[in-house]
Amino acid sequence: MLIKERLFTPGPVPLPPQVIKALGQQIIHHRTPEFKKIFTEVREKLQKLLKTEGNIIMFSSSGTGGMEASVLNFFSKGDRVLIINAGKFGQRWKEIAQTYELKVVDYEIEWGKTYDKERVLQIVSEFPDIKGIFVQQSETSTTTYHDVSFLGEVSKNLEDCILVVDGITSVGVYEVYPEEIGIDILVTGSQKALMLPPGLSVLYFSDKAEKRLSKSNIPKYYFDVQKEAKKQKEGQTAYTPAINLIIALNESLNLILDEGLKNLAERHRIMAEATREAVKEIGLKLLSESPSNSATGVYSPAGINADDLRKELLKIGFRVAGGQDSLKGKIFRIAHMGYFDFNDVIQVIAGLEMALYRIGFDIELGKGVKKAQEVILKNS
Ligand SMILES: *Cc1c(COP(=O)(O)O)cnc(C)c1O
Repeated sequence: MLIKERLFTPGPVPLPPQVIKALGQQIIHHRTPEFKKIFTEVREKLQKLLKTEGNIIMFSSSGTGGMEASVLNFFSKGDRVLIINAGKFGQRWKEIAQTYELKVVDYEIEWGKTYDKERVLQIVSEFPDIKGIFVQQSETSTTTYHDVSFLGEVSKNLEDCILVVDGITSVGVYEVYPEEIGIDILVTGSQKALMLPPGLSVLYFSDKAEKRLSKSNIPKYYFDVQKEAKKQKEGQTAYTPAINLIIALNESLNLILDEGLKNLAERHRIMAEATREAVKEIGLKLLSESPSNSATGVYSPAGINADDLRKELLKIGFRVAGGQDSLKGKIFRIAHMGYFDFNDVIQVIAGLEMALYRIGFDIELGKGVKKAQEVILKNS
């Protein structure tokens, strides 16, 4: 029988038809007035998305390239930095920083939890020479939301410190306005809430961060922010850009800005709440104590391997993500960021109930679906 595979993974995510159409066109050359016009439009729309007139550049890379560029360009060897390390991607900040010989203060946090404010204050008073605080606003591996505005305050009060935020699964899910929040560097990537295939990273940096550019002593070539920023202000890129992705980004940004950033955040809030309430109603436990609105991490019931449950779900037509590292086999993650609406949530919960039923979990069918419907009705 026909089974349609539906992607509910936190990257890559399903593409809107407008994006698919844009991707299906013949390529144009990048050193043309035609491309320059599109590139300039995209830059302006990214500024609207982040409510800033500040510096934004794009690299042809996955999100990690944008993370690496943040370390390479705004820091020097030997700089001390604080890493809020609460999952796979926090770990990645740490690994990149160590690769480039920064001195890392590793604030390791149990997976599924967020940071403790007191502990952060303690660390910065112990190490007043901290030059950067690194965090994920949404730690996708544990589906945890970290409050970055508090860290913005902390960073502001230090002598020479910048706040570096991985917003790869928060931009396009929440309203993320770096200037209001006090974020100095914000990274995002194309295959998450921006609703594109992988291959583009986006980097915002503040004026405070910009002053660091000429001082950094770490070698770099492709990921040279100064060089790119200069070119991109003129509507060009230093090297061949991911032309088709940029054309498609123009379309996805239209969708985002047409919906409105408030509405977009509210839609994600409701989808996340409906998902969480539904899985709890089914009798499952959430992974995160500070859940993100981009994806929901759920513990598989006792005696059921999460990856077996995922296989059942896939047979029904839903691809969800598993756990990484220590969470492998223990949890699964349902994404609801980007091109998703309330009906998608109802569908995936219905699928989850059937998968649980088939795998032998004691379940009353429809219970979670009903809960999701109630949350949606109450909020919309
Ligand atoms: C997906 C993701 C990344 C980047 O991963 P890539 O595979 O390099 O695109 C980084 N941080 C977070 C929080 C992510 O979700």
